[in-house]
Amino acid sequence: MRKYVIMGIQGSGKGTQAKMLAADLDLVHISVGDIFRWNVQNHTKMGAQVRRTMAAGELVGDDLAESVVRDRLTQHDWNFGFIIDGFPRDPRQAEFFLESYDIDGVIELDLPDSEVRRRVLNRRLCGDCGMDYNLIANSPKVPGRCDMCGGELITREDDTEEALAVRLRDYHDQTGPVLEIFRRKEYVYTVDARPAPEVIQQQIRERLGLPPSQPENRGSEVA
Ligand code: ADP
Ligand code: ZN
Repeated sequence: MRKYVIMGIQGSGKGTQAKMLAADLDLVHISVGDIFRWNVQNHTKMGAQVRRTMAAGELVGDDLAESVVRDRLTQHDWNFGFIIDGFPRDPRQAEFFLESYDIDGVIELDLPDSEVRRRVLNRRLCGDCGMDYNLIANSPKVPGRCDMCGGELITREDDTEEALAVRLRDYHDQTGPVLEIFRRKEYVYTVDARPAPEVIQQQIRERLGLPPSQPENRGSEVA
């Protein structure tokens, strides 16, 4: 059983790396941001509660974030473990998490702020399958259309200059101290988030003491 936390500033590729590791190790990937976005898209009661907060780039309340994580983890479908992305994001959430679960490691994706803006402001998502594109590094074959499913590419509502400024401030002020808490427990493995996704993935595996992934074992997400 492996239990990992993946942390990193906006645009550092947490979701991409978490999905790759989860596919290979049969871990459940839990993205708190994805759960909130799903609720917004599907017009649930929770979605209505968090929509404006998220669009402004602000953090959702701790009680709600914690209950989302608790509910997800009590499903106990994670026989081989989990990798959680987007949580904990402030010291209170870190305390809650450390009281409830013992973890094997925290992966920190390290990216300079200058690169963050470039990545986030050029990010597009497929509205249908959620596939992630970057108009600079990996643009779709047909502009505005998903290579995988042909769906329409959209911009996340919080990938604007204004909301990004709020998110970056919160990351440094609230999430920075979480990394310090984990560092004191010697859980943190820091990896440079500037290279290509496959290179970063191999570095993560090396830091975690896992064997390199075999190309034939990788899922279609990197095909
Ligand atoms: P990013 O890390 O790029 O800001 P995420 O997809 O992880 O994006 O999160 C998107 C938004 O979801 C956050 O800006 C916040 O509003 C909300 N959110 C996600 N995780 C948490 C959390 N642990 N606590 C509070 N709000 C959260
Ligand atoms: Zn798609």
